[in-house]
Amino acid sequence: MVSVEALATPIESGWVARLGAAVRQEFRAEVLVPAVADPILGSPGCAVPGCVRSSRYAGLCPAHLGRWRKAGRPDRHGWVKTADPEVMGYRPLHSCLVPDCGFGQHRYRLCYRHSHAWDKAGRPAVDRWKPDVAGTPAAVCAIPGCALWAELDAGWCHSHHRRWRLRGCPSAAEFIAYCASYGEDRFDLRPLAPQLRLEIGYALQCRVDANRTRTTPRSIKPLLDHLVASGAESLLERPLAEWLAGLPAAASVNTPRAFLGYAIECLLDLRDGTGWDSEYQRDVWRLRRLGVSGHDGAKLDFTAVHPVWLRELAKRWCRWRMSCGVGLGQLRSDRLALVRLSQFTPGLASSSGPDALDRAALEAYLARLAVEIPHPKTRSAEIGCVTGFLHAVRQHRWASLPAEAQLYPSDQPRRDETPAPRAIPEFVMGQLESPANLDRISDPRIRLLVEVLIRTGLRIGDATRLALDCLVRDPQGAVYLRYRNHKMRRDAVVPIDDELTAMIQTQQERTRQRFPTAAVLLPRSSANPDGRLPIPTATFHLQLGQWLETCGVTDELGQPAYVTAHQFRHTAATRWINHEVPQEVVRRLLDHTSHTMTAVYARLADTTIREQWERAQKINIRGEPVDITVDGPLADGEWMKQNLARAKMALPNGYCGLPLQKSCPHANACLTCPLFITTAEFLPQHRKQLDDTRALISRAQTDGHTRLAEMNRTVETNLLTIIATLETDQRDCRCAAADSETCCGKESSDAP
Ligand code: SF4
Ligand SMILES: [Zn+2]
Ligand SMILES: [Zn+2]
Ligand SMILES: [Zn+2]
Ligand SMILES: [Zn+2]
Repeated sequence: MVSVEALATPIESGWVARLGAAVRQEFRAEVLVPAVADPILGSPGCAVPGCVRSSRYAGLCPAHLGRWRKAGRPDRHGWVKTADPEVMGYRPLHSCLVPDCGFGQHRYRLCYRHSHAWDKAGRPAVDRWKPDVAGTPAAVCAIPGCALWAELDAGWCHSHHRRWRLRGCPSAAEFIAYCASYGEDRFDLRPLAPQLRLEIGYALQCRVDANRTRTTPRSIKPLLDHLVASGAESLLERPLAEWLAGLPAAASVNTPRAFLGYAIECLLDLRDGTGWDSEYQRDVWRLRRLGVSGHDGAKLDFTAVHPVWLRELAKRWCRWRMSCGVGLGQLRSDRLALVRLSQFTPGLASSSGPDALDRAALEAYLARLAVEIPHPKTRSAEIGCVTGFLHAVRQHRWASLPAEAQLYPSDQPRRDETPAPRAIPEFVMGQLESPANLDRISDPRIRLLVEVLIRTGLRIGDATRLALDCLVRDPQGAVYLRYRNHKMRRDAVVPIDDELTAMIQTQQERTRQRFPTAAVLLPRSSANPDGRLPIPTATFHLQLGQWLETCGVTDELGQPAYVTAHQFRHTAATRWINHEVPQEVVRRLLDHTSHTMTAVYARLADTTIREQWERAQKINIRGEPVDITVDGPLADGEWMKQNLARAKMALPNGYCGLPLQKSCPHANACLTCPLFITTAEFLPQHRKQLDDTRALISRAQTDGHTRLAEMNRTVETNLLTIIATLETDQRDCRCAAADSETCCGKESSDAP
């Protein structure tokens, strides 16, 4: 396999200069010594408190490792506490034993001159020997931290002079750096060809800047050795596949392979430049180069779209879609739809122009598609992509299509009218929500995610990416979860109960302890040195599956139950609807823009509410059995009583109907709840609600229910205030009513 990208452009002469300019000074060094505990290039510090070295094995630096072994390998934790932290290069060197002499020791623990003088004097007893001391010399040793007198005119003390000679008399700066990092692991790039050395330096620099993956000298040493042996001048002289195929066993493990691929990617990015200018003409777009963040390695590959004229149109369409803000997921579907269009339309791939797209061709395409993709919903989405493509080509005159080159609504497959309910049956939910089973989730992040999904119905991708400071309070002190609705690209809030609040607070603590600078509530545990990245949804899916298996969760028939993360969302919605939370409120709780989606749940509820209610009586939403008789007249009475209890709370859009929010502390906070109020579009509801409330009050008064009447008076007053405010606002408001949720900023409790 040959990578087209790697061979596409010949390496031009200006390239090395450009590379040189891109590599920062510290990564241009021939020998690169990472700082101790550097999160990317280094290793954690030695476990001995006060030791300045990096750990190498078992949490100890080589010096302490040696001492610990010499001490007979005692219990390491205890030993570490008592060990002398000083290591070579940091322990002061001993001076000559003659009082006031500051030269280093040479022989007999005396300096060079005094050792000779002592020999000459016939080695007398030291306390009776009083030699001359040569006054104070001009300089002390130039190695920082060494206090010995300099000798032999290179500026070093006796010992450092010897070591300097052994190193081949390097420059003073180099020698000082060498001493300071003595014993530390290092990237030794000296044997590499000059350009290759720069390239590796650049790749290391990119790794540091990306701040994700640890790359220590040891981990890529086999790779560097191989590069030296290969005699290569540049990584770009061979495609990645060829490099990988030639790696020796020692270098053919994950880290060096990944580093090699990464280095080549970084270099290609630098060489070919980023942005549309360079990327558009390619047939494989690297989204990273187009500024699409968060999808490091993602590509859009158009090579399978044939022939070239269709590929050019496909690229043009995708670029236009991207500039309209269409997300990566959709773009991938778009691309795939066009690949299949080119494969499934007879003769298209070998055609010379858009004339080939006539009605006959499109019908043949539809027929083939129906065979290849039997599922109507999937096929319909695919046909939708192609329809949009043809439409855009015609609308923007990118090419002259035959007049009949379009698809119509009647070309779409028929779809089932009512989608099957996707909520998790309460029978299964009862098992999932049992405290014993919840306690079996060992990872607290997963446990919290499960609770969040059950209680708020958030999408899993929104829940994993919750910010660390995701809790907000309204003026009444009621708590909301603030999240980013990634699908709709907007911020949203959902009310939460005290229990969930407490769980989130505990997690905030946990996260802050492990990652003091983290911005996310649930950080991923690997390749994430600063806690910037959230736990991947894949981790959740995996652990959810394992948990279901460990708990042996079954359906009513005793079969193992299969549950997906997204089903929790349908479950939350269904529960709300079945507890008669008004559709409008559910829509806002789920942060749906249109009513269509929410209406699906409601329609379901129309026919099943009574059954659902009866089932809810047997097992309530927390899985606890409820002790009432279900059969007989009592059941009807109970049912009515429950409805009545809810009807008492007449509020703007019905009533505060969140029975799941058992511990919501502020019933009256509903009136300031951002989910409820103050956009003018709801005025009719508010007015009608006012009438209803008043009717309720007078009925309550006639029946002598003073308490009920009183409660609803407060409601009446609040409604009057709301209506009055909205009516005034409506006159000032100049925003389009369509975006009323953010209109005028008049929502009473916008997140602080
Ligand atoms: S007060 Fe009512 S509407 Fe407001 S958050 Fe609590 S339950 Fe929801
Ligand atoms: Zn140490
Ligand atoms: Zn001396
Ligand atoms: Zn010295
Ligand atoms: Zn859904």
